[in-house]
Amino acid sequence: MSFDHLSLISPLHDALREEGYKSPTPIQMEAIPEVLKQKDLLACAQTGTGKTAAFSLPLLQLLDQHKSKRKGIRSLILTPTRELAIQIGESISAYGKYLSLKHTVIFGGVSQLHQTNALRQGVDILVATPGRLLDLIQQGFIKLHQIEIFVLDEADRMLDMGFIHDVKKIIAKLPQKKQTLLFSATMPPEIQKLAQNLLHQPSIVAVTPPSSTVEKISQYLYFTNKSDKVKLLDHLLDEEDIGQALVFSRTKHGADRVVRVLDKKGHKAKAIHGNKSQNARQNALKDFKDGKIKVLVATDIAARGIDIDELELVINFDLPEIPETYVHRIGRTGRAGLSGKAISFCDGEQHKLLKDIEKLIGLRIEVVHDHPYPFEAQKAEESPSREKRKQPTRNKRYR
Ligand code: AMP
Repeated sequence: MSFDHLSLISPLHDALREEGYKSPTPIQMEAIPEVLKQKDLLACAQTGTGKTAAFSLPLLQLLDQHKSKRKGIRSLILTPTRELAIQIGESISAYGKYLSLKHTVIFGGVSQLHQTNALRQGVDILVATPGRLLDLIQQGFIKLHQIEIFVLDEADRMLDMGFIHDVKKIIAKLPQKKQTLLFSATMPPEIQKLAQNLLHQPSIVAVTPPSSTVEKISQYLYFTNKSDKVKLLDHLLDEEDIGQALVFSRTKHGADRVVRVLDKKGHKAKAIHGNKSQNARQNALKDFKDGKIKVLVATDIAARGIDIDELELVINFDLPEIPETYVHRIGRTGRAGLSGKAISFCDGEQHKLLKDIEKLIGLRIEVVHDHPYPFEAQKAEESPSREKRKQPTRNKRYR
């Protein structure tokens, strides 16, 4: 199916053609017609499914078609992290380039001056994180009484990150009559309750749950010693035909250490984590997107919402403590139908984490034995049922 079947206006079609999008993703196919009917929407979809375009395209179209003479913000997109906010802003710039709607992005951790200047000039669409939005509302820079379309993005992460209270405060400032689109990767009870209160007879759409996304990604496991992980990483970067890699480290300190060692070994690398300034994080991300650095080392919090097109490889330098995080991490590769690859290192202390992950994804990750830094007690520690193979093959279903 092509975008032609979605009744989108030609300025949007032209922009999509320039973006190189040929056909809509499943969430776009399901959500766009419902939003264009001006219905409320409850969408179960995670990052990587094309959900940003699923709400941005019909939102731009509706605002363009129902022009308003009144000045003021007509649409609010609320999202949990600054990285996501910036990316949504970039998507709206790209999709809306042939429309005359104005938008701006606001988030915390930086001076508010640029943001308030942009707001003074008038915007139709505001992309915001909750804290800075409330701050600027309190200072009188923002009024939400004219909102026609409200998008609550990544509602479950808002909950995880402790923002749900702020979100409720913001919702209380919105007009009663509006169209609301709620996106969430999962639907925990608190989000279901919020949806019940917020949405009026919503259309409900859901796309394939994370575990089936996971099956499209080739996943490999390297058992190694904690002290050998950096050497193994250096070896893989040298040996394998690796373009760029996003490497996940458990700690900020660990991320910096990996970058230092890789730099010494001649691999251009940068770290992004919570101790880095917003500018340093944006620069590192830009250098990575522009291909100036080969490796971006990130902690989970800093990596939330990073959107890098056509990322081929994710490396779990440390396995995550929470199994769902593994799914979020490797979901950064293999986006929008691309094939992706994920490599995980597992040291002697992480077998329990590995088991939990394999249980969640319903797959047994293929072990690569043929590498120079094997785990010393590998044979003793490894589960006896793990078959030994020289070369990685396809993932097996977990039983
Ligand atoms: P999202 O889930 O919104 O974070 O989108 C994931 C990635 O898929 C982004 O890099 C988008 O640019 C890309 N994308 C979204 N929709 C399409 C499409 N229909 N065709 C190709 N790429 C897309």
